[in-house]
Amino acid sequence: MNYTTVIGLECHVELSTKTKAYCSCSTEFGGLPNTHVCPVCLGLPGALPVINKEVVSRAIKAGLALNCNITPYQRYDRKNYFYPDTPKNYQITQQALPICTDGWVEIDTQQGKKKIRIERIHMEEDAGKQLHTKAGTLVDYNRAGVPLIEIVTRPDLRSKEEATAFMTKLRAILQAIGVSDVRMEEGSLRVDLNVSLMPEGSETFGVRAEIKNLNSFKAMEKAVAYETQRQAQALAQGEEMLEQTRRWDEACGQTLLMRSKEMANDYRYFPEGDLVGLAIDDEWIERVRATLPELPHDQAERFVRDYGISAYDAMVLTQERAMAQFFDEAAALSGDGKACANWLMGDVSRLLNEEAKTAQELTFTPKDLYDLTVLIAEGTISNAAGKKVLEAMFHEGKKPQALVESLGLAQVSDEDELLREVQKALDANPKVIEDYRNGKTKIVGFAVGLVMKATKGKANPSIINRLVSEEVEKRARQ
Ligand code: ADP
Ligand code: MG
Ligand code: ZN
Repeated sequence: MNYTTVIGLECHVELSTKTKAYCSCSTEFGGLPNTHVCPVCLGLPGALPVINKEVVSRAIKAGLALNCNITPYQRYDRKNYFYPDTPKNYQITQQALPICTDGWVEIDTQQGKKKIRIERIHMEEDAGKQLHTKAGTLVDYNRAGVPLIEIVTRPDLRSKEEATAFMTKLRAILQAIGVSDVRMEEGSLRVDLNVSLMPEGSETFGVRAEIKNLNSFKAMEKAVAYETQRQAQALAQGEEMLEQTRRWDEACGQTLLMRSKEMANDYRYFPEGDLVGLAIDDEWIERVRATLPELPHDQAERFVRDYGISAYDAMVLTQERAMAQFFDEAAALSGDGKACANWLMGDVSRLLNEEAKTAQELTFTPKDLYDLTVLIAEGTISNAAGKKVLEAMFHEGKKPQALVESLGLAQVSDEDELLREVQKALDANPKVIEDYRNGKTKIVGFAVGLVMKATKGKANPSIINRLVSEEVEKRARQ
């Protein structure tokens, strides 16, 4: 039997506020263990939490960017569980009244555009980190109380490709609006994946498995593929499907059972009595809305319209805000969007990848890139020399004009000088003329190569082409 895969995602996004959700401890990543803590985030008796308004504003901002409704009255709930990484023995979260509801994100699929519905966004807090050593388990509470939002989709995704398209889009939006670093490697974006299968054509969803805490798109895709296969096999064997929680094991490339429904935790949710309810009026919402920047998909459309680049290139360039801004400035200066896009998506991206850097860390400016394209367009340097200049710009942050001089890359366009090079090359290779006389006219290209090599790529190629053709023609007739 053929099955349709049904996927829903729960995305945990760490907010990049300066201070924690309910106390004034720093949220900075790293730091010596247990140095960013206080009685509140350590859950000491008598300590009382206070709402960080910036967290609420950022949750609203995310909700607006994802087309959600904002709930006018906020209440917080306690999710109770006993585990060493949670010093209070409960997590402050929102169960009954999430801050945002009923939004959507549009993705591109093979069948065209598709809206993925967002069920809700709620505010919660992160837990501490456990460190298992030979001497025993240690706990670092620096991360306890760092604000999170959880974004929950409806089960609208139908393949791993759609899941990745959604996450790519979501990440770009959250980064663009500046609420989170969304770095999966650092754990500021984590995904729980819900997967079930139903017979093709059916509209009744199957029983889902939830795979916890995926920290890369690759892991998510592999987990979808593995689950699809595992569940199809179980269904084919007539197994009774039970709701279960699993985890992805990278080493064995499988999802492994953590617990099934009967073992599910009872979190005994109840209202958080230490925090007051919070009213969000229209004025607050409008104040936040006014801070929303141009969103990545709108920016991509503008790039296609104004700079004439392809939709694909525009999509790639708007994945990261700093890259998009760099392109925007360089393309506006030069008017040649295609050339700027090629440099940024080609050599610049390659160099950034090699050093695991982001566009934010580029040491040269959009004006420098523009100057480089001008140097090439005007024939001062060849395209190949341009690549060398770019590498030096990247590593040394110097101006392209200065580098052309210090690296001795200026293209030779002096015709007399170049003609002497052509003559030298033809003198040394008399067979070229012989072959040409015998009808092998393609030999001209070979001769051009000889001259380019002799001048170490610094000769202006279009002048060399012309000079070689003329000189070969002349000698062949003699
Ligand atoms: P919980 O908090 O227990 O995980 P939720 O109701 O919050 O439960 O649902 C979590 C996620 O599961 C949502 O993203 C939703 O889209 C997804 N989901 C619900 N039913 C299914 C299903 N049958 N197959 C796949 N995903 C599902
Ligand atoms: Mg869940
Ligand atoms: Zn604290």
